[in-house]
Amino acid sequence: MLSGAKKAIGTLRGRAVLACAVAAAGFVAVAASHAATAAAAGILKVRMGGDAVQTRVVIDLDHATTGKLVADGAADGRAILLLGDVSAADGQQGVGQGLVKRWVVDQAGGAARLQMELAPAARIKRRFLLPPADGIDHYRYVVDVAAAPSDVKLTKAAPPALATPALRTAFLPAKPPPMLSMKRTIVIDAGHGGHDPGARGAQGFEKDINLAAALALKARLERGGRYKVVLTRDADVYIPLADRVRVAQRAGADLFISLHSDSGPAADVHGASVYTLSDKASLRAAKFVRREDWFMKASLTGDRGVRDILFDLTQRATKNRSASFAETLVGRIEGRAPLLRRSHRDAGFMVLLAPEVPAVLLEMGFLSNATDEAMLSDPAQRGRLMGAVADSIDDYFAETTRLAAR
Ligand SMILES: [Zn+2]
Repeated sequence: MLSGAKKAIGTLRGRAVLACAVAAAGFVAVAASHAATAAAAGILKVRMGGDAVQTRVVIDLDHATTGKLVADGAADGRAILLLGDVSAADGQQGVGQGLVKRWVVDQAGGAARLQMELAPAARIKRRFLLPPADGIDHYRYVVDVAAAPSDVKLTKAAPPALATPALRTAFLPAKPPPMLSMKRTIVIDAGHGGHDPGARGAQGFEKDINLAAALALKARLERGGRYKVVLTRDADVYIPLADRVRVAQRAGADLFISLHSDSGPAADVHGASVYTLSDKASLRAAKFVRREDWFMKASLTGDRGVRDILFDLTQRATKNRSASFAETLVGRIEGRAPLLRRSHRDAGFMVLLAPEVPAVLLEMGFLSNATDEAMLSDPAQRGRLMGAVADSIDDYFAETTRLAAR
C-alpha cells in the first residue's frame, strides 16, 4: 500500500500543482470573465484614521494585489498609488482625515489609481498588503502617511489591532465632495533628437519637426486641464529608446504617443500612418518587464506558468487598447491631413514594447514628399494635425470611461 499510496500521493501532489496552475489560470480566467461584476467590487471600501502626525489609509480589497507608488506626495501634495489588477469601475471618492484632505479612486489601465491630496509637507511613509486574518475575510492594503520632516518612528508592521472590526466601520462622508481632477497621464515622445537627426527633408531634419509637434500637442492637451503631460524630451537631445519606455512606465502613463516623420524613395508617397505593436514583436516585450511589476508578484502560487498567463493577459489588454486608440486616431486624422494607404500598421518598434502602457507611433507624413513636408513645417497646419491627435485622445478616454461605467 505504501508504495501505491506514495505514488498516489505523488500523483496527487503533481495533480495539485497542476490543479493550482489550472485553478490559478481558472482564477485569472474567472477573474477575467467576471471582470464587470467582480472588478466593480475590487475595492470594497477605503477607510482612514489618524491625526496631523500620522494618518493610516486602509483599502479593503476582495483579492491580493501589488501597489506601485507613482507619487508619494512630496512633490506637489498629490500622492498617487496604483493597485495592479484591481478595478475601480465606480470611481469612489471622499473627504480625508488627518493628513489626507481628499481622495479619489479611478481606473488607470489595468490598475486602480488612488489619488490623495495631502496636507502640506506630508508624504506616504510606507505601504503594505495585509492578507485575510483574525476573522477578516478580505485583503487590506495599508498606506501610512506621515508629516515630514517626520521624526515620528513608525513601527514596522501594521499592528493587528488596526484590522479590528471597529475600524471596519470607519467613516465615509455622507455627501462626497466635488471630485478631484482625475488627470490621465499622457507621455509624448518626440522621435530621434541630438546626434540622431532622423529623416532629412528639403527644409530640415525630422527630429526638429517631431519636437515642434510634441510641444504643440502638449500645449493643446494641457489647455483643457484634463491631462498630465510628460515629454520624453523637450529639447534637441538624444534619448535611448529603452529610456523613453522607462519614462512612460515610471509616469504610470495611460497613453504613450511617439511622433515621427516618415521618408521613402518615392517622392509621391505621402500621408500619415499609425503603428501599434506586432504580434511577433510582443515576445520582445518581456525585456521591459520589471521585478516590481504587479503581474510578476500577483501570481499567488508563485508559479512561473501563472505569472506568464498574467503577463500575457496584461499585454493582450494593452495591445487591444493600443489598437482601439490607433483606430480612433486614424479616424480623427481623416479629412484633416493626408493618410497613407492602409494607415494602421503594426511593427516591432522598441518604444511600443511596455507591456502595461497603451502605445502608438504616429508617422505624421513623408519628408520625402514636398506637400507633406510643407504641411509639417507650417506651425498652423502642424497644429491642425496635433488638434486631431488631441481630439482622438479625448475620444479614447471618453470611450474608456463609458466602458468602465457599464
Ligand atoms: Zn522617425
